[in-house]
Amino acid sequence: MAVLEDLLVVQEHDSAIDRLRYKKETLPEQARLAEVEKALAALDASTAEVGARRDDVARRQQRHEDELSSVETKIGEVEKRLYSGAVSAPRELQAMQADVASLNRHRSDIEDRVLETMQEREPLDAELTAFAEQRAGLEAEADQLRQAIAEQVGEIDAELATELEARQTAAASIPDDLIGQYERLRGKQGGVGAARLVNGRCSGCHLTLPATELDRIRREPAGTVVLCDQCGRILVP
Ligand SMILES: [Zn+2]
Repeated sequence: MAVLEDLLVVQEHDSAIDRLRYKKETLPEQARLAEVEKALAALDASTAEVGARRDDVARRQQRHEDELSSVETKIGEVEKRLYSGAVSAPRELQAMQADVASLNRHRSDIEDRVLETMQEREPLDAELTAFAEQRAGLEAEADQLRQAIAEQVGEIDAELATELEARQTAAASIPDDLIGQYERLRGKQGGVGAARLVNGRCSGCHLTLPATELDRIRREPAGTVVLCDQCGRILVP
């Protein structure tokens, strides 16, 4: 029966379409890309966290440096007056020298604090540099993966278009009710709605039909749609 042969052709195309869609949804590159994107998100979170700590240290360092420069300015001013010759009263000179000594001690304290914050900042900067390198590596990999995915999806889509067109051509001569029945069976039976009967065996469920059943099928008038009594699929003798 030509219509049933056409139905098998439709089945072949439908199976090919299913395989292509499955292939498109399960590209290994897609899975890897999801991993890479997850790693990038985690890296961004770590970068934000360490970055905030580094910025905090940097702000403190800046405050200390500003304070240091204002103390240095002050020392400069006092020393300038001290050595200008404008001041000659010994008591005043002594007071100014004490001022310079005290400012120098203060400067030394601030220098220690600047050094401490620099030391605190160093490992954070190093960590951020390492994160940036990791990010660049992951971004490059993600770009390659996206490109590979786009290429494969393009190829698969082209194959899908061909298969869909061929499917439509093959289905054109099949009556709607038979296509409808086939679609329902396909939905229930893992994508296979029609199967060839080969040597008394249903190639849908791979079970051998009982002799009595085969006999019954043989005696059906031409054009009758027969279903496998094991799996219910449309049998094509
Ligand atoms: Zn069967």
